[in-house]
Amino acid sequence: MNPSSGLGMTSLRARQRLIKRLQQMGVSDPRVLEVIRDTPRHLFLDEALASRAYEDTALPIGLGQTLSQPFVVARMTEVLLRDGVPDKVLEIGTGSGYQTAVLAQLVPQVYSVERISRLLERAREQLRDLGLHNVRLKYADGHHGWPRYAPFDAIIVTAAAAHVPPELLQQLAVGGRLVAPVGPAYSQQLEVYERRASGMHHYSLGGVSFVPLLEGLE
Ligand code: SAH
Repeated sequence: MNPSSGLGMTSLRARQRLIKRLQQMGVSDPRVLEVIRDTPRHLFLDEALASRAYEDTALPIGLGQTLSQPFVVARMTEVLLRDGVPDKVLEIGTGSGYQTAVLAQLVPQVYSVERISRLLERAREQLRDLGLHNVRLKYADGHHGWPRYAPFDAIIVTAAAAHVPPELLQQLAVGGRLVAPVGPAYSQQLEVYERRASGMHHYSLGGVSFVPLLEGLE
């Protein structure tokens, strides 16, 4: 991907500033930093918001949903890649497709599920325009994961629930890792679950704020 596509307000300089900030905040994986620098986040936003695309902030993508803060995208992605590149990654909550695009440049195959059809179709177009073909998208309620392609080496949930849906934990491969915001609306902990041969291990990475994981389709 050409890092300088879309010059002016979305210039390489703004992207480099963002990378510096992510590094200051503790993101250190060079693969993740490079992909975030080179992914045109402005293309995942409405034109009116494009000038803010390289600020480290969550931004609205319509239909009451948000594109996650770059720091959170970086942190979650870094956790999934920590012990090597997972082969198959499942994402719940495609939204704009930005997190999907970041993952698709780092792992062989991404599966992503979204419950709002208009967002999913927009994301599908954007990912195709960027030439990211190692992504499969599904219009469904992500509580059920994607049994057909399970188990997954990594699962990332980008909407928050009071508990991680049990079907997602069931679809995690041995040696796999799931990262998800868990807790009440707009104030959650980023939780990591690892399925090891000895059983499920769990730890927390700190506070985050995601839109809720909802039931059913829109
Ligand atoms: N990863 C996205 C973040 C979008 S916000 C991005 O980079 O833009 C969270 C998304 O999760 C929203 O698009 C919302 O519609 C979706 N979502 C919420 N509940 C869901 C569910 N049960 N199944 C699938 N997607 C869901």
